[in-house]
Amino acid sequence: MMNSTPCKILIVEDDPGIRMFLKTTLSTNGCEPLVAATGREALEMITSHCPDCVLLDLGLPDMDGTEIIKNVRAWSKIPIVVISARGSEEDKARALDLGADDYLVKPFGAIELMARIRTAIRHTVTVVDNDGIALNGLCRVGELTIDYRKHRVFLSGRDTGLTPNEFRIVALLGKHSGQVVTYKAILRELWGPYATHDNKILRVHMANIRRKIEPNPDEPTFIFTEVGVGYRMADCD
Ligand code: CA
Repeated sequence: MMNSTPCKILIVEDDPGIRMFLKTTLSTNGCEPLVAATGREALEMITSHCPDCVLLDLGLPDMDGTEIIKNVRAWSKIPIVVISARGSEEDKARALDLGADDYLVKPFGAIELMARIRTAIRHTVTVVDNDGIALNGLCRVGELTIDYRKHRVFLSGRDTGLTPNEFRIVALLGKHSGQVVTYKAILRELWGPYATHDNKILRVHMANIRRKIEPNPDEPTFIFTEVGVGYRMADCD
């Protein structure tokens, strides 16, 4: 998938049906799937096999998946993509704030799965110099260009006139393009660790940003809302 060496992906899932779907999809896409059905097994396999990415179901028979995230994040940046049930926004946000890289909501398709894994691995590989690249360069998503040097965002070459705070939000989402960024992470990044976790202010900013950058603010094409969790910018070109 990433290069000629097959990617090792650990599947942590107790549902045999989903496990089989994941295993088949990964093999078909040139990855080497490893499988764990319990949290204990997962922790053992993560330390012994050092997979390139972990697909993690949060509802495991012997422990909560978030325990695995906490444990792994204490010593490793290995990409973790959470597999979650629909409607558990709080769990998703919590998993992301604990250090998971992204999540997939069941049911999902093969294309979505492979895209999430690719993005999660890419961000981990470039995390060291991501700031450097971003601060000196551009992020292009279709007709939208984030210019990190000029602190401007252009739509089809025209300055969109974002305020400094609006720019900071778009710049942050651009650095994590393709990945969801939680409300908490945005507030913390913009206004520091003691910022009040009031999502209302973000929603106001986002409405203004969309009016300026989206051809149709009601049907966003650059920044998507992940209900109850945060925002996701479309993948950079
Ligand atoms: Ca489960």
